[in-house]
Amino acid sequence: MSIEVSNDKGCLYVVATPIGNLGDMSRRAIEVLSDADLVLAEDTRHSGRLLRHLGIERPLLALHEHNERERLAGILERLAQGQRIALVSDAGTPLISDPGYPLVRACHEAGYGVSPIPGPSALIAALCVSGLPTDQFEFRGFVPRRESTRHSLFETAARANATQVLYESSHRIVETLGEMRAFFGAERQLTLCRELTKLHETVRMGSLDELTEWVRSDPNQRKGEFVLVVAGAPAPESPQDDVLDPVLRVLLEEGLPVRQAAGIAARLVGGKKNQAYQRAIQIRQE
Ligand code: SAM
Repeated sequence: MSIEVSNDKGCLYVVATPIGNLGDMSRRAIEVLSDADLVLAEDTRHSGRLLRHLGIERPLLALHEHNERERLAGILERLAQGQRIALVSDAGTPLISDPGYPLVRACHEAGYGVSPIPGPSALIAALCVSGLPTDQFEFRGFVPRRESTRHSLFETAARANATQVLYESSHRIVETLGEMRAFFGAERQLTLCRELTKLHETVRMGSLDELTEWVRSDPNQRKGEFVLVVAGAPAPESPQDDVLDPVLRVLLEEGLPVRQAAGIAARLVGGKKNQAYQRAIQIRQE
């Protein structure tokens, strides 16, 4: 099987690398890295070890959150010379809670190609084994360190109907779960994904109450890297007949036409106008 690598010059390749298991390194990622004029890495020592393991010897340059803006001009200059540049992070997909966004943006603005070499990401790996709905989800990145930011994020996330995905490290997992229980409620379902693709991989679903207690009582479950996948808030129920009906009855008794009564009732109760209209017709017929 042949693997196609674009021969376009002056291109930035955004290359995903394993999140634990080196077997997840794709053949295409290996080819692109082997072919790159320069590999931009969050931590050159870390990525240097990966490249050596793969038998790849390419120049490495550090690109991390503290220097990525000042590096831009030099990198764009290399792209202008037609170089192929690969961007990797320590693990997973660059830009997903990792550096690279300013560079990708600058490449677009300067008219250079940006090409994905897709592969592992803890976000998608966790979501697809979570057992929670995947049709709509919101990725919240790392649980913020600052208390006020964290609490306002939890408040918003707890109200959202889509599945919520958060990253957390081992240092704070117990405190984070305890706080989430307070904001999301003890019964909210959560899937805790720990050390995915590694020796101690754990995927466990339960209520926030159960999982908080489980992690609190077993120190082994606090080690490593975590993705927390939380069930969305249940969709608001449509107004029940027992709320809608009395409002409609009063309005109809006051002599309002069916359509007008339905419109006012829907606004008061918070439901769909058509539903209130159908119900109003039934009440009038009774
Ligand atoms: N760019 C990476 C990606 O695509 O997933 C994420 C990088 S972010 C700096 C690191 C965080 O991702 C960890 O603190 C953890 O929350 C999550 N993570 C990374 N690898 C993981 C793994 N093997 N199992 C569970 N979570 C992981």
